[in-house]
Amino acid sequence: MRMSKLFVQTLREFPSDAEVISHKLLVRAGFIRKLSMGIYNYLPLMWRVLKKVENIVRQEMDRAGAQELLMPFVQPKELWEESGRWGAYGGELMRLQDRHGRDMCLGPTHEEIITAIARDGLKSYKQLPVNLYQIQSKFRDERRPRFGLLRGREFIMKDAYSFDTTQEGLEKEYKNMWDAYTRIFKRCGLETKAVQSDSGAIGGSVSHEFMVITDTDAGENDVFYCDCGYAANSNHAVSNLPEVNITGKWSKPEIIDTPNTHTIEELCDFLKIEPTIIVKSLVYIIDKDPVIALIRADKNVEETKLLNAIGGQEIRIAVAAEIEDIMGVNGFNADKGFIGPKGIKEYNGKPIKFIADKTVVDLKNFVIGVNIKDKHLVGGNWGVDVDLPAQIADIRLVDAGDLCPECGKPLKVTRGIEVGNIFQLGTKYSKPMNAVYLDQNGKAQPYIMGCYGIGISRTAAAAVEAHHDEHGIKWPLAIAPYHAIVIPVNTKDELQMKVAEDIYKTLNKHGVEAVIDDRDERAGVKFKDADLIGFPYIITVGKTITEGLVEFKVRETGETSNVLPEEAAEVVVTAVTNLK
Ligand code: ATP
Ligand code: MG
Repeated sequence: MRMSKLFVQTLREFPSDAEVISHKLLVRAGFIRKLSMGIYNYLPLMWRVLKKVENIVRQEMDRAGAQELLMPFVQPKELWEESGRWGAYGGELMRLQDRHGRDMCLGPTHEEIITAIARDGLKSYKQLPVNLYQIQSKFRDERRPRFGLLRGREFIMKDAYSFDTTQEGLEKEYKNMWDAYTRIFKRCGLETKAVQSDSGAIGGSVSHEFMVITDTDAGENDVFYCDCGYAANSNHAVSNLPEVNITGKWSKPEIIDTPNTHTIEELCDFLKIEPTIIVKSLVYIIDKDPVIALIRADKNVEETKLLNAIGGQEIRIAVAAEIEDIMGVNGFNADKGFIGPKGIKEYNGKPIKFIADKTVVDLKNFVIGVNIKDKHLVGGNWGVDVDLPAQIADIRLVDAGDLCPECGKPLKVTRGIEVGNIFQLGTKYSKPMNAVYLDQNGKAQPYIMGCYGIGISRTAAAAVEAHHDEHGIKWPLAIAPYHAIVIPVNTKDELQMKVAEDIYKTLNKHGVEAVIDDRDERAGVKFKDADLIGFPYIITVGKTITEGLVEFKVRETGETSNVLPEEAAEVVVTAVTNLK
């Protein structure tokens, strides 16, 4: 490819709406252009990268024994009603109607469709196990599309689905996919950590996410991990707690004045106590209904864990007006600093749900709000002064320094970008959709299913997060849009041009995807663009060519050396040959 012909417009400035580096660089280096919120054009350079990621994924999925197919992007409501998700999926599902008024949706994922395909064709145990996958655009009307390709509304995903007759079979395939994922991300030049995770809207029980570890804002997940190998997303992590004092200093219960103690810190200062003897009461709204959650005041609630414990689709903390309203209905007028479970009964004609985190169960002579402004109960005990909620669960957000649930050492925390995940679904879809095969005894049995996703476009963006510097992208060779660029410094210099063209030809002849920068531009402009776009190898033909030498630069390390033209070509050809 000749740079003068390459369809790319690099920008001088970063786009103003971009927050993370992959978004900034992919726009500035001319890889993507925004069409609408969370919807991007993949320009030629980007499309080359995406195809390379896809091909690595395809090769490894095929090698692992999976078979590729392609399902429609637009899906009918009926299948989603069979699985129960038409109602359950929430705002991310982009619903639309055709001209006949039939409800359809844009595929955010394909469990329903693949289960229907299996139901149609996999009738006997003799046909199983099977793993089917596709690589395709997905659409999710994300609440907060952001970070460019990392969280788009339209994005490219590889999704695979396995069908087995036994749980052991599923676990074997799960391991098989785990190994395939490990190879895929390694080949893409990414280091990943597999972490335990919440199963979310897809459902099922066991699941792992493959995270690219990063210390930037682009890492939307907190990952807690330990040297012993334990690693979990914060929405799923559990921990043990060091022992602390959980018995208050009061010998009898009393409601006392605690003026202006709106926060736990203010209350601790006022009472001269540690937060470990305070019960904190928090009001959440889960699918429109209030839920009051109690937790020891030195700890925080993890919303996904709470949502899973209660059951529901959407969770958020209640706003002040809602809290006032709930208080009012129950005959109180306290604000959020003073609320507690006592005397709160109903809202919207329904009894209010209460849940206690495990941390509050053993507290003695504790401090708790009693829904009276500027007052708290001190010296309280469960069953005597306040009732312990019937539902007790682990709804606590783990903190770094808590103890590892497996080995007891302090947990560490880091951030991660989820590039792929694997789920053991079991019969979550096959049962409600009556997707069955006949077993050896001729009895109908639901398939035991697994599903396995990789964000193709997110993986490409994550690679930029992991590989860049202040000058631009440093593409890993395996997914770079082009492997190398040859830059004649002065296109008017005949010798420079001739050598550059020769190297370019040699590279092409040996299967290297090369660009020659034949533009009549200042050398500085050419070097800047080469670094920004992120060519893994940059061969510059300048003045030293009179001594027979070119400059060879490795973008990843920044190392440069003066070598013979054929030596430069040879290094690139060897590296590219070794990829295959
Ligand atoms: P997240 O928690 O980041 O929203 P998810 O759990 O919804 O991800 P899945 O439904 O399992 O993700 O999708 C499989 C893969 O698709 C993810 O691992 C991720 O790499 C990718 N992916 C999911 N949502 C998006 C998105 N909005 N933009 C780009 N890639 C995405
Ligand atoms: Mg999601």
